Amino acid sequence: MFSRRILLTSVSALAALALTLPTTTWAKEPIPVVATFSILGDMVERIGGEHIAVTTLVGPDEDAHVYQPTPQAARAVAEADLMFVNGLDFEGWLERLAQAAAFDGALVVATDGIEALTFDEHGDEQDDHDEHKDDHDDHEDKDHKDDYDKHEGEHDDHAGHDHGAFDPHAWQSLTHAVTYVDNITAGLAKADPENAADYYANRATYVAEIEALNVDVTAIMAGLPEEKRTVITSHDAFGYFAHAYGFNFEAPQGLSTESEVSAADVAELIEQIRKEGISAVFIEAIADNRLLKQIANETDATIGGTLYSDGLSNAEGPASTYLDMMRHNAETLSKALSN
Ligand SMILES: [Zn+2]
Repeated sequence: MFSRRILLTSVSALAALALTLPTTTWAKEPIPVVATFSILGDMVERIGGEHIAVTTLVGPDEDAHVYQPTPQAARAVAEADLMFVNGLDFEGWLERLAQAAAFDGALVVATDGIEALTFDEHGDEQDDHDEHKDDHDDHEDKDHKDDYDKHEGEHDDHAGHDHGAFDPHAWQSLTHAVTYVDNITAGLAKADPENAADYYANRATYVAEIEALNVDVTAIMAGLPEEKRTVITSHDAFGYFAHAYGFNFEAPQGLSTESEVSAADVAELIEQIRKEGISAVFIEAIADNRLLKQIANETDATIGGTLYSDGLSNAEGPASTYLDMMRHNAETLSKALSN
């Protein structure tokens, strides 16, 4: 008797719970979305908040250039209502993955509307309003172009890796980040108009933070003297940062961490470091930095620290969000270069 009453009570309690749950949690299921890499995933989460469930394909400290989609990735893409991508040929593996997963959701290209930096025939990054063009031309190479063309040929061999002529790393400009956020917001609002007001409210908060950080980073970078403004990193990921804050970035590797390095380019870089008295080189969290360390060894340059180029750090690291990443990079550069 006793136990039966308890059983009845608990059953009815459960039934009551089951009845109340769907009505008290008013929200529908979070929308399944995919973001291709960690930086973009962080931005998407800031805008989508509780209304979405984000799967990030290329996680923190991982390299999107050489990413190999997993079966879990294909499943997430197959189930996603929206997929957020960088575009500008950053995700060379995307098309094949989307096809394999029969993705039929909406595709949001975060760089839509951004005037991308291109590579001219010397391999230099530039656009029409490049005030630093002259500096570039002064101490820039003649050989990068050959190298770049060689790689174009090689790309045919491994299908899906086509880096195109545009620099995809547009998130390295806080100004462009606002365009990323606008595209993300518009994509979410279109897919889920019911919650559009929330997305736009999140956008307003986030954009205010991005703009405030841009003021800080501009001030940090402006504090460095002109002759300290050449920065050596592993691959060419900081063109937009350079452009935004008046720096000159050089890298033994090209636009992708996949690019092979020519001995001539390395020799030239070493020559430049010696000639210009460049005091520090910077390793990248995602890249193979052996070559860079070798370059530092052969010159008087020290390793100035770690920059986050194409991916966030893990939660314990110094760059676990996009905003932390941009601040960390600016502070790391400033600290090392002002010595
Ligand atoms: Zn990259």
